[in-house]
Amino acid sequence: MAQQNELAAIVGKEWVRAGRDVQTFAIDDVCPSWLVYPGSVDELAAIMRCARQREWIVVPAGFGAGLGLGNRLSRVDIVVSTQRLNQILEYTPEDLTAAVQAGCSLASFNAVLQEHGQWLPLDPPQPERASLGAIAATADFGPLRLGFGLPRDYVIGMQVVQPDGTVIKSGGRVVKNVAGYDLNKLFVGSLGTLGIIAQLNLKLRPLPPADATCSVQADTLEALDDLIRLVAASELLPAALVSCSADTAEHVWPDCSHSGWLCLIRFLDAEAAVAYQLTRLHELARTSAVRCEQLEASRAHMIWQRIRDLRAAPAANLVLRLHVRPSDVSRLFSLVGNCLAEGCDQVLLCSYNRVGAMIACARSEPTVAIQSNLCDRLHQLRRQCQMMDGSMIIERAPTNIKQAIDVWGEVGSSIGLMRSLKQQFDPKRILNPGRFVGGI
Ligand SMILES: Cc1cc2nc3c(=O)[nH]c(=O)nc-3n(C[C@H](O)[C@H](O)[C@H](O)COP(=O)(O)OP(=O)(O)OC[C@H]3O[C@@H](n4cnc5c(N)ncnc54)[C@H](O)[C@@H]3O)c2cc1C
Repeated sequence: MAQQNELAAIVGKEWVRAGRDVQTFAIDDVCPSWLVYPGSVDELAAIMRCARQREWIVVPAGFGAGLGLGNRLSRVDIVVSTQRLNQILEYTPEDLTAAVQAGCSLASFNAVLQEHGQWLPLDPPQPERASLGAIAATADFGPLRLGFGLPRDYVIGMQVVQPDGTVIKSGGRVVKNVAGYDLNKLFVGSLGTLGIIAQLNLKLRPLPPADATCSVQADTLEALDDLIRLVAASELLPAALVSCSADTAEHVWPDCSHSGWLCLIRFLDAEAAVAYQLTRLHELARTSAVRCEQLEASRAHMIWQRIRDLRAAPAANLVLRLHVRPSDVSRLFSLVGNCLAEGCDQVLLCSYNRVGAMIACARSEPTVAIQSNLCDRLHQLRRQCQMMDGSMIIERAPTNIKQAIDVWGEVGSSIGLMRSLKQQFDPKRILNPGRFVGGI
């Protein structure tokens, strides 16, 4: 109670929660003792000073939608949510830049930008429940990664609260910055292990005037692959290109009359550029054993949303992300399918072919014996990825699987450098300790 009072003295009584209120912020099976909502950067800094003094384990959070990511924590004292830090501080449409607090959701940020014909072209799952701070911390992406890149490509400056409560700024508010260490790149993707992101300065893009999606359907994966190779070798520049197994196709497009392999190709560009690319795609498709048709806009929108949100499906308790060379992605369909064939149902597989990634979601049975068997097969799948110079991350899994497998896998020789950075930034190990690669 004394500790709760200490936090209440910083943020006000109504912004410290305990008991049942904190259960939605449980990390795997570990419930935090308190959930705190700072209303300013000063309050956030004061919370960190207090936490460091008391050596509380702190988990930074936005909406708590992706807290299952990372290795299991043995203890959590406080979850610090940025949900009250949700203001757009400065927006200069003519410069295509904005300064925004970390707790603003991607959806509400983009709603404001849209009024000025601009956007932040990132599409992680559930944008209405994805805070910009967490998207940066997890370096998250969706199908648009092919055409528009990753969060690090858009962060030009940051304000970060360090574990000792010091507030640091990196970068600036203009697209061109002075030379020096680029700390933004360090914090983006560091999973809240080095500091809590309080503010982001972002560069933006104009909304493309035209948006068109084609579905490509095939009876075999080989036929789909032939078409994807032709697209890769052509002058076409899709903003997104994904392939789905038949079950996944049915999930993302339930009223589709075709049952088989499905590829979706999206173009976002000027009207003439999109029209040209659609014509070229149809020409290429005519030379392959596939059926290609342009989708009506609202249907395309619905399918892309379902693809984007696959990883967040509540029924899936096992979510994998695999990375290999783009030319090897199709091999993953059978490797992952075999791995999840036993002890799992509702297996959905979707590949981001040209970026070399695959998302696999499934519901694994709770029996310990089945899950221990599954652990062996997951180890084997990771080895198969490594043999293709790739990697496998377990984004979400039941607790006993997480206890048996490191969700990140080996990261190679850079781990020494990463450990010394953690030691430098967070010597008392109070921020998300052990959750990131190599037990950082
Ligand atoms: C590997 C991976 C797995 C994912 N799994 C899911 C999933 O299962 N369901 C889902 O809906 N989305 C998932 N996502 C998407 C991602 O979590 C969301 O897009 C978004 O980041 C969630 O926003 P949030 O505000 O709810 O984040 P939270 O869940 O609150 O936080 C996500 C992570 O970011 C850290 N963090 C949050 N805010 C900050 C901050 N301001 N400063 C520093 N660190 C911070 C947290 O400690 C946590 O590790 C996943 C993303 C990745 C990369």
